Amino acid sequence: GGGVTKEEPACISSIIPGWFSETSPMWPGEAHSLKVEKILFQGKSDYQDVIVFQSATYGKVLVLDGVIQLTERDECAYQEMITHLPLCSISNPKKVLVIGGGDGGVLREVARHSSVEQIDMCEIDKMVVDVSKQYFPNVAIGFEDPRVNLVIGDGVAFLKNAAEGTYDAVIVDSSDPIGPAKELFEKPFFESVNRALRPGGVVCTQAESLWLHMDIIEDIVSNCREIFKGSVNYAWTSVPTYPSGVIGFMLCSKEGPEVDFKKPVSPIDADESSIKSNGPLRFYNFEIHSAAFCLPAFAKKVIDSK
Ligand code: SAM
Repeated sequence: GGGVTKEEPACISSIIPGWFSETSPMWPGEAHSLKVEKILFQGKSDYQDVIVFQSATYGKVLVLDGVIQLTERDECAYQEMITHLPLCSISNPKKVLVIGGGDGGVLREVARHSSVEQIDMCEIDKMVVDVSKQYFPNVAIGFEDPRVNLVIGDGVAFLKNAAEGTYDAVIVDSSDPIGPAKELFEKPFFESVNRALRPGGVVCTQAESLWLHMDIIEDIVSNCREIFKGSVNYAWTSVPTYPSGVIGFMLCSKEGPEVDFKKPVSPIDADESSIKSNGPLRFYNFEIHSAAFCLPAFAKKVIDSK
């Protein structure tokens, strides 16, 4: 495709010129490819390589260290599910913390919950925030909500300093455990999340793919079962541009008031919840909320046995 600049970064594949192929040691032997119309931004922050390109059929695409983070066409699935699975499972969430999520999409979704009074965000890389505001205005719109307090820093340190029992919900919208997000998948971080939650508070984390990462998921589930004494669940959904076309979430609650993630207590449906500026829900509804917890046999066996 035209417009691909000469100095293509490593991940702009030489396999099929003009195509981006997402190769990674996290999914050996496979690579999802998108046709590149034009590279819009290329940068290197203190933490990662950042690329934005215009794709032929998925709108603009954000790539960090060669891994697709979001595309305009299917980001709704991920942002809506990672946000509404936890927030619709408790009544009247007031204080929400987002770790990562520098594109602003989760903030856009949290803003739909009128009970929320305070949305803290800790994102490590300011370049992601700036690039999202410039190239993904319908995603970065989340930063405009007056309830948002943005801190640029490491989520591990942020949670270490967070006061006990502060948050009704924590959403860990992290990249993969290769790079700056590595510690966000480890036990000490989960312990600090549990401490920062109020009794019965909930956490939802980006939890990789059932098809590709059952080993990582096994470790996450056993760590979560040790730490979160409320309920521990794995949910998943379809996101075409994530490796294997699916992404999962760990949904856990702190000891205290019972949380049944499979039965949303404050379901929001596509029609009731659209905040004009943020546009209507395009993916989430409360049938797909409950369905997200139905797992294939091979995964159920592993996850239920931990
Ligand atoms: N939807 C994507 C996925 O599933 O991989 C994640 C999107 S969001 C862009 C991931 C964000 O996590 C990035 O902006 C990255 O900079 C941020 N991040 C990585 N490690 C972090 C850390 N230790 N503390 C805070 N933010 C971090």
